[in-house]
Amino acid sequence: MNTEKIIKAGKIASEVRAYARGIVKKGVPLLEIAESIEGKIIELGGKPAFPVNLSRDNIAAHYTPSYDDETLAGGLLKVDFGVHVDGWTVDNAFSVDLDGDENNGKLIEASEKAIESVLKLIKNGISTNDVGEVISSEIESSGFSPVMNLSGHGMDEYELHTGISIPNVNDHRDIKIIPGLYAIEPFATNGSGRVKDGKPSGIYELVSNKNLRSPIAREILEFIEEEYDTLPFCSRWIIKKFGTRASFGLKQLEENGNLHQFDQLVEVPGSKVSQTEHTILVEKDSVIIVTK
Ligand code: MN
Ligand code: MN
Repeated sequence: MNTEKIIKAGKIASEVRAYARGIVKKGVPLLEIAESIEGKIIELGGKPAFPVNLSRDNIAAHYTPSYDDETLAGGLLKVDFGVHVDGWTVDNAFSVDLDGDENNGKLIEASEKAIESVLKLIKNGISTNDVGEVISSEIESSGFSPVMNLSGHGMDEYELHTGISIPNVNDHRDIKIIPGLYAIEPFATNGSGRVKDGKPSGIYELVSNKNLRSPIAREILEFIEEEYDTLPFCSRWIIKKFGTRASFGLKQLEENGNLHQFDQLVEVPGSKVSQTEHTILVEKDSVIIVTK
């Protein structure tokens, strides 16, 4: 672990979070919000670890504006973004109620209370069962459900999700937390407590660099390897670089198995989902909340 680079990424994320809270307003185009946040990360000396996610209402995660997106901010909006410094990533998120809706406010408070409780108890050696238990009991005591098939995760160099999950319920897997970098992200909902795959998100990840014939696809593949490595990116970024002809190249790369495209993750129609996320660095005898 490169503690210095992780701490630097965390400081940038905290500053960008404060900036984001100031620009996220009802009626502002999501495209403008995403580009402003990503621009701020770069201005402060980091790089986006993945495209800014701006998921509204029952979309729990993986909504990032397309290059021609006209959606306006509203509802219960999750603002989830990451920063990396030379591949050392931090991941964080907050939720805002843009409708002045009392229930939205309570949902947001439930995920905030859940993460506060986890941050007080998490340390080297603790079981993921206990973490999940604290998250679910906090959210249930507010009258909502945790989203049980979304979870926090370990992170490593150029790796946003290692194999380790930090569950939002006690999943009885009893994994002991060891020193390392982790994202904790409670999701609270008045829906079913489970998300399903929705529409394709336009967010991709490199899975293979196997060769292919199409010149545009090859050109894009080289750019991805150079610019993002194994971190997620989106069609908006690729179209910004190569123009709209890149859509065809991305499709070919997906069909050839070079890229994996993530689906949006959605709760039942009419429901709402809130999320709060922080990154922590667990050391042998201490814990640093790097995105605080
Ligand atoms: Mn996140
Ligand atoms: Mn995360």
